[in-house]
Amino acid sequence: MRAFDAIIIGAGQAGPPLAGRLTAAGMTVALVERKLFGGTCVNTGCMPTKTLVASAYAAHLVRRATEFGVVLAGPPDIDMPKVKARADAVSANSRSGIERSLRSMDGCTVFQGHARFEASNVVRVDQERLTAPRIFINVGGRALVPDMPGIGEVPYLTNTSILALDHVPLHLVVIGGSYIGLEFAQMYRRFGAQVTIVERAPHLISREDEDVSDEIRRILEGEGIAVRTSATCIGLARHEQGVAVTIDCAQGPPQNVGSHVLVAVGRRPNTEDLGLDQAGVTTDSRGYITVNDDLTTSAPGIWALGDCNGRGAFTHTAYNDFEIVAANLLDGEHRTLRDRVPAYALYVDPPLGRVGMTEAQAQASGRPLLVSKRPMSRVGRAIEKAETHGFMKVVVDAETKKILGAAILGTGGDEAIHGVLDIVNAGVSYDVLQRAVPIHPTVSELIPTLLGDMKPAE
Ligand SMILES: Cc1cc2nc3c(=O)[nH]c(=O)nc-3n(C[C@H](O)[C@H](O)[C@H](O)COP(=O)(O)OP(=O)(O)OC[C@H]3O[C@@H](n4cnc5c(N)ncnc54)[C@H](O)[C@@H]3O)c2cc1C
Repeated sequence: MRAFDAIIIGAGQAGPPLAGRLTAAGMTVALVERKLFGGTCVNTGCMPTKTLVASAYAAHLVRRATEFGVVLAGPPDIDMPKVKARADAVSANSRSGIERSLRSMDGCTVFQGHARFEASNVVRVDQERLTAPRIFINVGGRALVPDMPGIGEVPYLTNTSILALDHVPLHLVVIGGSYIGLEFAQMYRRFGAQVTIVERAPHLISREDEDVSDEIRRILEGEGIAVRTSATCIGLARHEQGVAVTIDCAQGPPQNVGSHVLVAVGRRPNTEDLGLDQAGVTTDSRGYITVNDDLTTSAPGIWALGDCNGRGAFTHTAYNDFEIVAANLLDGEHRTLRDRVPAYALYVDPPLGRVGMTEAQAQASGRPLLVSKRPMSRVGRAIEKAETHGFMKVVVDAETKKILGAAILGTGGDEAIHGVLDIVNAGVSYDVLQRAVPIHPTVSELIPTLLGDMKPAE
């Protein structure tokens, strides 16, 4: 048995920086990774997809070149092996950087293999048994493959296997109209594929407000993507041209035949093969490790960070979990998840930047609300760039004057939303932001104008 001060399972977004803080504090750390250093974000999530989104954006802009007075000899071609190589290189650089830094970190011993608990302070990795008084679980998640009719009989892609494609599918059917599905749908449409999105709910990204969802649908349909919502009975079957996807929704043909099918209906945590029962660590019904607001689990001396605790599903939330745990353990602070303001982006083009509640959630809270909305067609920066799809919207508590939530669906929305996020984090009323003097011409400069136009919610 090898003894350490701490064991970290998983080299995702929280494990490596935590190893850095713990070793800097003089602790010995065993870090166990079973597959790729950097985890989902680096290898099969944010980094490769945002690199592909950038290639798709370039293709889209080139097709629109004449609108800008730029004349090309002909329509652009997509060199898919090169597109893929670019994404692979971005991932590989980051992955090897993380691995290098962990392997050269004083006090850190890297184990490559699958970790499994044998007791609350003992972890087995192949033939090695490791023990520590502190164990940090950062095992992330993977694509959820639902038990839909026919799934075992047809070839299908997930967010991981689709990254191995080095050609453009003839017709990509994307099952799941949420964040991951929509990003792949738009990028492959821009690479030249016929694309159909099949979504069970009546709206795409159904957790967002309907006006956000409807505008995104309009943008995607405007690029020639077919959208089939209310697909209540999705099933798959082999077909001579690929895979037949049964939809059975109220309108349209009952079946779509795709050359390729991407299943993007959600994620599940990597917790079923961790031996959590041996450690006394409890999970919820979907396998997410139950944690307190300070990320401690049901077992003393064990913490769960990142996607596997179900309290966040993003790189920045996993990293913030690391910050909370490190601050409490090493800096004598009392940080908790309750301090975190929810924020995220959806990287369709134009992107959606989001903070806090949706308008529907704010309405459901029963508070008196003020709401302001402005189309991107009235934002100078968007007009200059000829990217006027979308809108910005902010929802305020009429009594406290605090911002409850905001959405910026528009060019630069993923960046501009941070102006609002900072004000929410500062905990001050919205008029502080209204009096700011933003830079011209930016998308952000319209936020004070937006805030100056608040009206009682209907
Ligand atoms: C297609 C896609 C796009 C995304 N885009 C974004 C985005 O733009 N922005 C954003 O914020 N988030 C995005 N995400 C989400 C983001 O990738 C995750 O939230 C983030 O990676 C979670 O980090 P983590 O540290 O919790 O886990 P992970 O990054 O998944 O890391 C977990 C690690 O643990 C290892 N592991 C698992 N089990 C064991 C075991 N038993 N023993 C040893 N090692 C183990 C795994 O191999 C993995 O390396 C995206 C996700 C996907 C799928």
